[in-house]
Amino acid sequence: MALLDIQQRIAVAEGKAGRDAGSVLLIAVSKVQPNARVAEVLVQGHRLFGENRAQEAAGKWPDFRAQFADVQVHLIGPLQSNKVNQALELFDAIHTVDREKLSKKLADAVQKRGSCPELFIQVNTGEEPQKAGVMPADVDDFVKTCREVYDLSIAGLMVIPPVEEEASLHFSLLSKMAKRNGLEGLSMGMSSDFEKAIALGATHVRVGSAIFGERVASVNL
Ligand SMILES: *Cc1c(COP(=O)(O)O)cnc(C)c1O
Repeated sequence: MALLDIQQRIAVAEGKAGRDAGSVLLIAVSKVQPNARVAEVLVQGHRLFGENRAQEAAGKWPDFRAQFADVQVHLIGPLQSNKVNQALELFDAIHTVDREKLSKKLADAVQKRGSCPELFIQVNTGEEPQKAGVMPADVDDFVKTCREVYDLSIAGLMVIPPVEEEASLHFSLLSKMAKRNGLEGLSMGMSSDFEKAIALGATHVRVGSAIFGERVASVNL
């Protein structure tokens, strides 16, 4: 079972890093996976999932939540500010806060609802033009703005390293930025590098294909 295998590898990585068992949360990234595969992982008892798009999540998670207790779904893909209300309906955490306009919309919506999902700020550590995320030089100011101007509680930072670079460099960078801002959460590490991320302090790893198999384009869309 792929889920069990990944859980065991996480436990080993925690041990090697001298970290407590269970200190790393596994987000099973179910985007673009057939519902039958997602259901299998739910039946095995896993309850924490990640999705890239509000639209896609809206098509499956209300039904799964009705069938399985205590499901949590995290948004790990970009969020348009006009989808904030829908996102708050669907997600328990948002890993992709990356601009002031979005923080403002979140703050307004959170105040109306009286509850706030866990929020992570995405950092573009590789400074890639096509990629979302706050630039490294702007992180400290952005964290401060979220906290002081918008009264948002920030759980941590999130990164998707450049594919062609050594991920560990980006994980260490993210960890340093989090520390100096007093942030505990580190959302980093995917199928190919989650063990490295755990060694460098990840609190949330986002693993898709290693659990569910390769993504099949256009399923569930
Ligand atoms: C798809 C995705 C993942 C999971 O990727 P795998 O390589 O399949 O583990 C993790 N994080 C983000 C932001 C993603 O979009």
